[in-house]
Amino acid sequence: MKLPSLNMQILLGALSGVGMGLWLAGMGPSSAATQHGLYAAGLIGTVFIDLLKMILVPLVFTSIAVGVANLRAHRQMHRVWLATLGFFVFSMAVAIVLGLTAINWFEPGKGLNLALFHDAMQNFEAKQMTLGEFAQGFLHGLFVNPFAALAQGNVLAIVIFALFVGIALVAGGERYRNILALLQEGLELTLRIVGWIMRLAPLGIMALLVKLVATQDAALLATLGKFVVVIIGTTLLHGAVLLPLILYLVTGVTPLKFWRGAREALVTAFATSSSSATLPVTLRCVEQHLHVKPEIAGFVVPLGATINMDGTALYEAAAALFVANLAGIDLNLMQQLIVFFTAMLGAIGAPGIPSAGMVTMVMVLQSVGLPAEAIAILLPIDRVLDAFRTAVNVEGDMVGSLVVQKLVRAAA
Ligand code: ASP
Repeated sequence: MKLPSLNMQILLGALSGVGMGLWLAGMGPSSAATQHGLYAAGLIGTVFIDLLKMILVPLVFTSIAVGVANLRAHRQMHRVWLATLGFFVFSMAVAIVLGLTAINWFEPGKGLNLALFHDAMQNFEAKQMTLGEFAQGFLHGLFVNPFAALAQGNVLAIVIFALFVGIALVAGGERYRNILALLQEGLELTLRIVGWIMRLAPLGIMALLVKLVATQDAALLATLGKFVVVIIGTTLLHGAVLLPLILYLVTGVTPLKFWRGAREALVTAFATSSSSATLPVTLRCVEQHLHVKPEIAGFVVPLGATINMDGTALYEAAAALFVANLAGIDLNLMQQLIVFFTAMLGAIGAPGIPSAGMVTMVMVLQSVGLPAEAIAILLPIDRVLDAFRTAVNVEGDMVGSLVVQKLVRAAA
């Protein structure tokens, strides 16, 4: 019997994961079926994520170094840079404006009297972290001993070092052809391993979704219902309407065609809540299904996975406004502008791991004098929201690589 395509298997895995999760949730947490089911799902899901993380570091390093080095042939390096950073900033700005507008419009925090919030506020002590301090910490984290960065899986620092290596390879030209060839073969080898890991993806995604759905506390989601709906709604609006529209206007790629090529990565991002863990899949989709040239994809996608996070930017801005709503504070235009910038920095600074946005969120709150403790209300509902925003984060990287490819070609 011929198996359905991997793409189809992943979709089927995701759907059955959600179905089984709902079924287990219905059985109640103490039933033997739920306990055994969750144990098995936890085991398989963890192994799948571990495998992705295992291959992540060699993949990021080789793909960026080779990507940058190969741009040399096109004499387009600076255009790719400009287009990439320009697109990242632009799409995150659109996402933040969308998030701010939605919360201003729907005011989901008004009239909500949460005991949880008051508790959180009670032991509020102003820990100050200014924008300056955040920027300093961020800069400090960029340049790290590459061996330590590789060993610790510090993706941002690896990206930076790989950029240096790539640029040095370009500058040195022929002199380093052996090192370039070695890296190129290393990249091929890594991608081959990614291909093997992907065979496990349908099962891994199913397991992760069983766990996500079965262990989410529905009552908690309902308490913050309006906020949850507004966030998921705007995140989907950005991901299903705005990004595809930008993509279509710039490149002519239709939403359907994009979805077909991108869905493996979107579903993986949703299930893992981690842009970094999804990176091997994203890169595969972009190169193999969406036909972005490896030198562009190898540069845009790993960089995007670390710094381009539309969903996170949208969420951080919206959540800050929501917290202000809850506290009965109206943020004026100037303060909302501060939220705009800190949310962008927060999204850039957040590593692509689950709930990372929650950590940088603290800075956004504090930049306009809101208590960091308010995170206590947001954390328990974060698993579900994180799944949506991570999918949009990854989508932004894929759209970005297509847009950059088009812009660079058009200018050539
Ligand atoms: N989980 C997100 C990601 O990996 C980051 C976040 O928490 O917003 O893209």
